[in-house]
Amino acid sequence: MRLGTPSDIKLIDENGLRVDGRTPEQLRPIKIQTDVLNRADGSAYIEWGGGNKIMVAVYGPREAYPRHTQDIERAIVKARYNMAAFSVDERKKPGPDRRSVEISKVISEALQAAILVEQFPRAQIDVFIEVLQADAGTRIAGLTAASVALAAAGVPMRDLVVGGCTAGKVDGQIVLDLCREEDNFGQADLPMAILARSGKVVLIQMDGDLTTEEFDRATSMILNATKRINQIQREALQGKYIAEQGGE
Ligand code: ADP
Repeated sequence: MRLGTPSDIKLIDENGLRVDGRTPEQLRPIKIQTDVLNRADGSAYIEWGGGNKIMVAVYGPREAYPRHTQDIERAIVKARYNMAAFSVDERKKPGPDRRSVEISKVISEALQAAILVEQFPRAQIDVFIEVLQADAGTRIAGLTAASVALAAAGVPMRDLVVGGCTAGKVDGQIVLDLCREEDNFGQADLPMAILARSGKVVLIQMDGDLTTEEFDRATSMILNATKRINQIQREALQGKYIAEQGGE
């Protein structure tokens, strides 16, 4: 959510460090845990930095209802992104708004590309993404956790994981994984998500302006970061399978 750049806000200091002390290419710490909800077919909880806390629940594949929504050739993927009223500084009005409808749509499309939807004609797969606390980057964090929750639910995927990151421009520099001040007062942000194995881009949006060179630098930073994020996703899933087999 861009608010423009007040000239008195400095986002990169004289040592090249950002407002939260990170270097330009440093990610915030990421933690993912699977199987946190008993009633969902699959679930995951992600903390992305101290500021983003997101819960994801997956249901299905199950028969799509109402029936006229069914696709006779494939499952439909319905992601619903929702921000809790207490997730941001000022109370957010509950319920869907333009932003959450847009994010739900782009996440649904990204997941649709990752899931073997043709194996489940007439079915629907529901993915509930509940943002409990937000600090920029929630659409990518939500999508990253949703992919883990789908795999934990045993939904067959073209690619084990889809993950991504945001890069952007602050004080004229390209940086990875924008925090809230950078998102609000920076010059551009570029969230992007990629299928791990094929490298296919399944989500890309851009807010603000980047030159071709800046765009190339931002996307190459995101591609590098996504490899690390995929590793964290796999570790979360391996933890689940080790626990299911009763091992350590
Ligand atoms: P993303 O969370 O994917 O980066 P945006 O760029 O739209 O999506 O939002 C950036 C950040 O702005 C959010 O993570 C959140 O911290 C904040 N934000 C978004 N919507 C609101 C809102 N309605 N009220 C307060 N802060 C918000």
